[in-house]
Amino acid sequence: MARSTSAASSSSVAKETLAFCTSCKMDLNHVIVAMKGDRIAKVQCLTCKKEHVYRNPKGATEPGPKATRTRKSSSEDGQHSIEAEWEKLMASHKDQPVKPYSTKGAFELGDKLNHPSFGEGIVGKLIYPNKLEVIFRSDVKVLIYAGVASTF
Ligand SMILES: [Zn+2]
Repeated sequence: MARSTSAASSSSVAKETLAFCTSCKMDLNHVIVAMKGDRIAKVQCLTCKKEHVYRNPKGATEPGPKATRTRKSSSEDGQHSIEAEWEKLMASHKDQPVKPYSTKGAFELGDKLNHPSFGEGIVGKLIYPNKLEVIFRSDVKVLIYAGVASTF
């Protein structure tokens, strides 16, 4: 006769739940040891068998220790990646004619241009209405050009 209101709380003592183990340092299945109202107060880790205060699972999105970054020498890194990108772009656009850069010139995405001070570069981005982001060997520069309107 007495209906249990099981829907009210899915968590109860002796049930399994996913929690963050403070000892194993990861999300693991735990058995609930103690409840505080509707909240889980204490859990026992099924892996290390330790009892500890309940912690919310960190979720699968949290990168584990395997995702540790390989450290690179800091300062030159940014410079190097631009040059690598530039070399890649120059290689993939090597058959393209080089347009001399001028503020009145018309350029499109992927155009190769030659700037009197920065050298050869590739248009990586068009910034409306009249700016270009150009990838040069050692830097990315924003340059003025004739703009979108005048190309029509
Ligand atoms: Zn554990």
